[in-house]
Amino acid sequence: MAESGTLHDAFIDELRDTYDAERQLTKALTKLAKKATNPDLREAFESHLEETKGQIDRLEQVFGSLEEKVRGKHCDGIAGIIEEGKSIMEEDFDEVTMDACLIAAGQRAEHYEMAAYGTLVAWARALGHEEAADLLQETLDEEKAADEKLTEIAEAGINQSAADAANPGDEEEEEEEEEEKMAMAGAGAKKGKAKAARRR
Ligand code: FE
Ligand code: ZN
Ligand code: FE
Repeated sequence: MAESGTLHDAFIDELRDTYDAERQLTKALTKLAKKATNPDLREAFESHLEETKGQIDRLEQVFGSLEEKVRGKHCDGIAGIIEEGKSIMEEDFDEVTMDACLIAAGQRAEHYEMAAYGTLVAWARALGHEEAADLLQETLDEEKAADEKLTEIAEAGINQSAADAANPGDEEEEEEEEEEKMAMAGAGAKKGKAKAARRR
């Protein structure tokens, strides 16, 4: 009877999966960057692409520290996420809506990677592979930062502009509400009436 695999085998398997995922992502990030209109968003994808290349090198170091051959194994999970991203890129959206969708696609990938590296770090520590654990932690931190950066960019205006484009009527209404509020503020209006303005 064949011996059953250990957590170490599962760890190596997961490393190979992640190595392949990173390689798939270098192509995907190139496409996301090309498709982005907002310059901050494009630059975020481009700089994460460079970071991703470093993460591939880092995984090679991890394999080396474990005296394992560098090998990838097709990652179906990230392939699915990339596939969904591609379909959204084919949709007919205005530029700002497309940017919002590119952020959504990018964040799905980042969260998938955060889950993978979170597990890898925990398993490496549990197995006593400290050098590997430290390297993997560095990448986990980069993935988290990349995710936060995308949230920042979305919240700095892309989501709101896309929402305004979806509800062009609301914008006029808000302007009217604001004018009204300013007039009332002049007349000594109370805080409760400022609601509409705070949404901006
Ligand atoms: Fe990555
Ligand atoms: Zn995978
Ligand atoms: Fe990433």
